[in-house]
Amino acid sequence: MSVYLAAQYTEILGSKNPSEVIAWCVAEFGAEKVVQATSLGAEDQVITALLALNGASVGIFTLDTGRLPQETYDVIEETRSKYSMEIGMVFPDAGAVEAMVNSRGPNLFYNSIEGRKLCCQVRKVEPLKRRLAGARAWICGLRREQAVTRAGLKVVEWDGQFGVFKISPIADWTEKQAWEFIKSNGVPYNRLHDRGYPSIGCACCTRAVEPGKDVRTGRWWWETPEQKECGLHRQP
Ligand code: SF4
Repeated sequence: MSVYLAAQYTEILGSKNPSEVIAWCVAEFGAEKVVQATSLGAEDQVITALLALNGASVGIFTLDTGRLPQETYDVIEETRSKYSMEIGMVFPDAGAVEAMVNSRGPNLFYNSIEGRKLCCQVRKVEPLKRRLAGARAWICGLRREQAVTRAGLKVVEWDGQFGVFKISPIADWTEKQAWEFIKSNGVPYNRLHDRGYPSIGCACCTRAVEPGKDVRTGRWWWETPEQKECGLHRQP
């Protein structure tokens, strides 16, 4: 039923622009039931700015995995200050991190795909699940052209893993459009983007990419493209 509804919603939204999609989302689900989970990357900053510019008072939070780069904390501060808004910090369960690191080592993600996925599960997926409990819709900055795993992305999808509708207002945007929006609206952005990092996650699992290379090649560079998701955005 929810999958069917998501397809209907996508059809209704058709050619609506991102601000209209956000306004629809808030009206349909209620501001208190809508959240934005932000990575503080360029596209998520576009979404945060759109929420602020449209006065959509939905809860905004980020997952503090404990392994984020300093530049990500810097952009959190800048964004809080520019838009006078709160960005909640959601942390992983301390006992689960302690048990994982003590049994598998602090760098388990480099040793096997299973270890990498376990780390993402403990530091990202479980905290997100906890924070999304009770929400009806989750607004994301995903774009179709970001990765092979995102090519079929719809504006509204039912996310069965977390039991919420996942809304992607800029699904059909290009990278160029996102950056034009950021520059023309003075949106704060992560300074690592200026140093060759198109996609930014945990410091230990992200590196700069050469100009012209696929944006995801800097994430989990030791894995194949089909495996490069942290478990937050499973395909429906
Ligand atoms: Fe762990 Fe790396 Fe996933 Fe961050 S991106 S949660 S450090 S495996």
